[in-house]
Amino acid sequence: MTSLTQAPKVKLLVNGELVESQTTQWRNVINPATQQVLAHVPFATSSEMEAAVAAAKHAFKTWRKTAIGTRARIFLKYQQLIRENMAELAALLTAEQGKTLADAEGDIFRGLEVVEHAANIGNLQMGEIANNVASGVDTYTLNQPLGVCAGITPFNFPAMIPLWMFPMAIACGNTFILKPSEQDPMVTMRLVELAMQAGIPPGVLNVVHGGEEVVNAICDHPDIKAVSFVGSTRVGTHVYNRATLAGKRAQCMMGAKNHAIVLPDAHKEQTLNNLAGAAFGAAGQRCMALSVVILVGEANQWVPELLDKARSLKINAGAEAGTDIGPVISCTAKERVESLIAQGIAEGANLVLDGRKPAVPGYEHGNFVGPTVFTRVKPGMRVYEEEIFGPVLCIMQADTLADAIAIINANPNGNGTALFTQSGAAARTFEEDIDVGQIGINVPIPVPVPLFSFTGSRASKLGDLGPYGKQVIQFYTQTKTITARWFDDSVTVGKVNTTISLK
Ligand code: NAD
Repeated sequence: MTSLTQAPKVKLLVNGELVESQTTQWRNVINPATQQVLAHVPFATSSEMEAAVAAAKHAFKTWRKTAIGTRARIFLKYQQLIRENMAELAALLTAEQGKTLADAEGDIFRGLEVVEHAANIGNLQMGEIANNVASGVDTYTLNQPLGVCAGITPFNFPAMIPLWMFPMAIACGNTFILKPSEQDPMVTMRLVELAMQAGIPPGVLNVVHGGEEVVNAICDHPDIKAVSFVGSTRVGTHVYNRATLAGKRAQCMMGAKNHAIVLPDAHKEQTLNNLAGAAFGAAGQRCMALSVVILVGEANQWVPELLDKARSLKINAGAEAGTDIGPVISCTAKERVESLIAQGIAEGANLVLDGRKPAVPGYEHGNFVGPTVFTRVKPGMRVYEEEIFGPVLCIMQADTLADAIAIINANPNGNGTALFTQSGAAARTFEEDIDVGQIGINVPIPVPVPLFSFTGSRASKLGDLGPYGKQVIQFYTQTKTITARWFDDSVTVGKVNTTISLK
């Protein structure tokens, strides 16, 4: 058990009240650039979990019937509050997560876009109607909320991913239990406070903190109808299996190994800038980070210039001006990245840029790893097979676009990918033949805007429907199809119909 300091305790949110947990199990929230303990986060007890679910269940009775306009206006107000508090939110995010202030604002902004989308719930949740499907008979659909839903989020986007989840679920008329990452829950809690300030009624949004035990309790709880998870493939597969076994809907957005293909006709300068930004930005801790580049044909000669780009990036605390790469989230994460680099060397990959143990004056205790590049990487090597989640780029070679596509499709993950080319025909072949969820054409991190849904293929996703966009409305609602006929009192003669036809 972690011993408590003077640092603040992160609160639970139950029935509209921020409450201190009665648990004996706490974990430190640590600034990854300095190792300062910023707060203590509780591992909620089972009775606290029960209280949160009971509050959500009770609130659902009235929230499900609350007018669309009332629900929508809360999210209009909420997006305004997020904008007004952007600088404070970004500073909090950087302190506990490590990414640069500009990237922290990006993290919040990509979530804010989903809040704006939730404010449009009136259009999104509308059903359909077909008039006169038989004479005097109409068929229409209602998209009704499910009840209590839950979300489990990862450390790498502590603003965006919670905002993928609870605004859309609540806008649809559900109530929600959020389980933020225990590594950086503070900015998530600040966003939750702003959501309450925007007018979300007590019990409609609840927060429990914790790890495996709380997550398992969410998966098992009979009053929770749907679980949305974002995180690693290992945990997501467990959550999906456990939640669906308990009869819930589940959607799990999971791990990645994202490849870019570079054709020799690509715009060289733009391509190299994009590759370096997507491989090393956020210290490689994005599920959409480009961690493998396949250079096709003569593009293989671009390695020295790519290394120059990588060397030009400034490693420092995220809060310092001019920083390109902040620390990774924890000492454990840093040690894991360093040990995978050592393993890459041992397995015969060619380490052409070694970012281990960079000098960062003033932040000697930070979890820093600088840009690291391997060439001659082959399938089967651990640096290729595992999601490193650090600023480590693996470079491979292929003779043709078809060969490069075959490499990507043989990788178990299918989260994101990108092609760099000036050829429309090559781009079309790529988008047709690649088996990956998010595809960028000269766009290195093609995270869809909320008009569309985030998706994923193979080991990167379980469940049919993605978060946000149109799909999430289907995920968070149950469709009822109503076929209705109203008898005209003036017609008194009728016949018994023993067929299935509507007459
Ligand atoms: P993680 O899987 O370790 O943790 C995610 C959540 O699961 C956290 O809330 C954590 O408390 C909980 N958890 C951890 N261990 C658990 C266990 N044994 N049983 C039950 N619950 C457990 O992921 P992370 O390290 O926080 O985040 C990084 C991962 O998330 C990467 O794999 C990344 O690719 C992935 N990710 C995917 C997407 C996507 O959209 N596909 C987006 C962001 C992150």
